[in-house]
Amino acid sequence: MGRIALLPEVVRNQIAAGEVIERPASVVKELTENALDAGATQIRVDLEAGGVGLVRVVDDGVGMDAADLGLAFEGHATSKLTESADLEHISSLGFRGEALASMGSVARCRILSRPRDAAVGASIVAEGGRIQPVIEAGGPRGTTLEVRDLFYNIPARRQFLKRTSTELARCVDVVQRLALAHDGVGFIMTSDGKRVFDVEPSMDFLGRIRRTFGAELADELVPVEASSNGMQVTGYVAPPRFARRDTGRQMWFLNGRMLRDKLLIRVLKDAYHGFLEPGRQPVAFLRLHLDPARVDVNVHPAKAEVRFRDSRPMFGFLVKALRAAVVQTNMATPGESLMDTRERRERREAELGSGYLPLPSSPSQGGQGPIVVREVAGRPLHESGPVGGGATFGAPESSVAKFRPREEHAPEGEADWRSVDGFAGPFIQVDRTYIVRGLPDGFEIIDQHALHERLTYEMMRKDVRENSVAVQRLLIPETVDCSTAHVGLLLGHKEALERIGIVIEAFGEGTLAVHGLPSRLKNPDAEGVVRDLIEILGRDGKLPDAEDVIEEVLHSAACRSSIMAGDELRESDIQSLLQRAGELESDQTCPHSRPTRVRFTLADLEKAFHRS
Ligand code: ADP
Ligand code: MG
Repeated sequence: MGRIALLPEVVRNQIAAGEVIERPASVVKELTENALDAGATQIRVDLEAGGVGLVRVVDDGVGMDAADLGLAFEGHATSKLTESADLEHISSLGFRGEALASMGSVARCRILSRPRDAAVGASIVAEGGRIQPVIEAGGPRGTTLEVRDLFYNIPARRQFLKRTSTELARCVDVVQRLALAHDGVGFIMTSDGKRVFDVEPSMDFLGRIRRTFGAELADELVPVEASSNGMQVTGYVAPPRFARRDTGRQMWFLNGRMLRDKLLIRVLKDAYHGFLEPGRQPVAFLRLHLDPARVDVNVHPAKAEVRFRDSRPMFGFLVKALRAAVVQTNMATPGESLMDTRERRERREAELGSGYLPLPSSPSQGGQGPIVVREVAGRPLHESGPVGGGATFGAPESSVAKFRPREEHAPEGEADWRSVDGFAGPFIQVDRTYIVRGLPDGFEIIDQHALHERLTYEMMRKDVRENSVAVQRLLIPETVDCSTAHVGLLLGHKEALERIGIVIEAFGEGTLAVHGLPSRLKNPDAEGVVRDLIEILGRDGKLPDAEDVIEEVLHSAACRSSIMAGDELRESDIQSLLQRAGELESDQTCPHSRPTRVRFTLADLEKAFHRS
């Protein structure tokens, strides 16, 4: 007797189930995708016990006749593929013919189905791999698929399931994602009899996002729409302030298929470059349409990963298209969110109960005395005349500046005044840190350091990109004492550092000589730059990505050489700062994504003064 034997069908299916059916959410995904492939316009998903007890998916799709049902639980039985050439251009969500066979081997399953034109339906049961004969059964047009007691016959797998609430959350996530990807299809989802999610068939993409994630996010999304060379992307990107620690709210759909892909995570990272706090992941909802022949979906059993056949041009196309939308997002920090309205104060007081004592009037000052408000040193407050055709912007009547909206604060009005903004005063510098200036529809407060930092950083990046970094050679090299290891560490990056304008040499044991720094740095601080470099390069003992190092060095150098909080500025300094920042792609946040300015609109003021 040989030692090798063909495995029985049940065992084969159970092995396949190991890859395809990991948890209740995989059952939900496979069944819902089948319903979508069947052309359903209404899909209902009912769960019990987080999907471990029951997953039932009811659809109004094409249905299966008795002959189809007889094959449904067989391995590699599919209606979506007939020959290997079909694998080259798959447009359905399923094609492997594994899902039902897998489920039939690890749970108690039942299908009840009736084709659209049939007078009666049929049903079939499979339990732990035992498939029973098809029987006639009444029922509505479409298909009802029930999967009960998942892994009841495989205790080892059942053990790996998480708490009911966790499994439920994953199931809901799957249905929400599929609902986002398929306009025209209505979804209803219940858990233990309670409705947990629904969308109507008529809802469009944005409506589905709003239903799933709320209006606060949906109202701030900026649309993306671009196509080139048979590639198309549509969808929405969110302002950077919605970014999260994980990529869970990056939703990519390829030809209706939900997708997780490292390349696409990288695309978003690049598109938001310079607008995110370190370690944050942006939020976006994007639909990709590619000729099915350009992508291989047959890479992964759960089909969550794909292989793009020509990823380079696609990467460039996507980053460009998304970036254009990202810079359009509203990065301004609205004053309303910061304002202490009466409602908020009352709510807070109520929460604190009767023992509440009012805080000192200016807590941010830490009790160091009153806020000092001064006029800009040595300049009459108003010098500039009206700017632009008839705008009242910057046209003071007396020593008190007056600003009026040109129209009721309509969004078009905003675009208007931005284009005629001469960045003229009057300005008020508060505590040598914040600049206050009027706008036609309110006023804004600018953090002078944060804004200057953004400006310096963008200029330095531009220099690096265009290979035109000007180096200020130091007449007398500045020496910095550090450990031998650190000298070695920095010298290991000598060339890369030279490209960004930092010229270093060894200067004996444990000493480094700085010979040059980027001319853009206004108050060059060689020692500070070296200390930052040691910090950045020495972190975690990991070899950092050259790109990331350049980024961080630029950040810290920009920070060091920028106007500091506490510097006194003349009106012309302020004006030139605002003007140059206004030419940037975006000047609403510093490179660490702290706000550079906070805007109070008339609407904010009306709210604060209870006029609205
Ligand atoms: P695949 O989706 O990869 O083809 P499955 O095991 O998920 O494999 O399904 C096997 C076959 O059963 C499908 O190809 C399809 O013909 C049929 N089927 C499954 N679910 C449905 C459904 N809800 N409506 C109609 N047909 C279905
Ligand atoms: Mg399928």
